Amino acid sequence: MHPNEIDDDGTWKSDIHEGIELNLLGEKIPLPDNLKKESGDTHAEVLAVLNVIDVFTICPNCNSSPYGPVLMVEGGWYMYPAKCCDFMLWVKNKNEIPLDV
Ligand SMILES: [Zn+2]
Repeated sequence: MHPNEIDDDGTWKSDIHEGIELNLLGEKIPLPDNLKKESGDTHAEVLAVLNVIDVFTICPNCNSSPYGPVLMVEGGWYMYPAKCCDFMLWVKNKNEIPLDV
């Protein structure tokens, strides 16, 4: 799953995976390896699809202006498919751990 495959409403479109087109809301998506240990699970449910500017004012990875969707994921995580820096970013919910951005 690459950032540019996820559109503004959280739909994952991939040509690689047989032309899949899947809205991720309510789906269980794979956690990155470092989060698997913390959560004790391999997948987590997408609870909401938000506009990233409501969550971050700058991209936590590259500091440019964020755009597109951010997925609120079970366990207090935001998954931001950062198209600005082509990076899948997992950030803890700001209500639990303040982001230093
Ligand atoms: Zn970025």
